Amino acid sequence: MNEQEMLQMYEDAGALLNGHFVLSSGRHSARYLQSALVLMHPKNATALAAELVKDIDASAFDMVVSPAIGGLVIGQEVARQLNKPFIFTERKEGEMQMRRGFSIPKGAKLLVVEDVITTGGSVRECINVVREFGGVPTQIMAVVDRAPQQDNRFDIPHHTVIALDVETFAADDCPMCKEGLLPAIKPGSRGNG
Ligand SMILES: [Zn+2]
Repeated sequence: MNEQEMLQMYEDAGALLNGHFVLSSGRHSARYLQSALVLMHPKNATALAAELVKDIDASAFDMVVSPAIGGLVIGQEVARQLNKPFIFTERKEGEMQMRRGFSIPKGAKLLVVEDVITTGGSVRECINVVREFGGVPTQIMAVVDRAPQQDNRFDIPHHTVIALDVETFAADDCPMCKEGLLPAIKPGSRGNG
């Protein structure tokens, strides 16, 4: 699949929304990506994970980890295709943690998988937790990069297969608000936004 075919998968699933949205950052945008609507179809998760892993050396990783909730479906599928254990971090009272009895062998190399990255905050918090547990995050993979022009978000390499540069606006400088066309809606939780 090329990038256009993958984007078409998002269009077909109704996952690329046009309107007036408030992102989790508080900024406003005319487009919103609801990745869960694509990944709810297992064949889509399988196809996108295959694109993510097609050029990687599975022997370079011991485990796969994702930040919940957004990364869970694609992370599990990537781990399945690489035949590696899959663990996840999750937010409790706002703080990213690793729970559920998961542990990481000292020095294990981890592939960090997310569905959508923008500022990369959840991925960075996940990486910090992995390091606290003695693991070595070595590479990030995400299906969609919503801010491909942003460098220096991460201190390890990242790989994405769809670049979707979505223009965002400060709430007090939003042209859609100024036009008064539509009320801004907040379509998803942090992790999708
Ligand atoms: Zn607005």
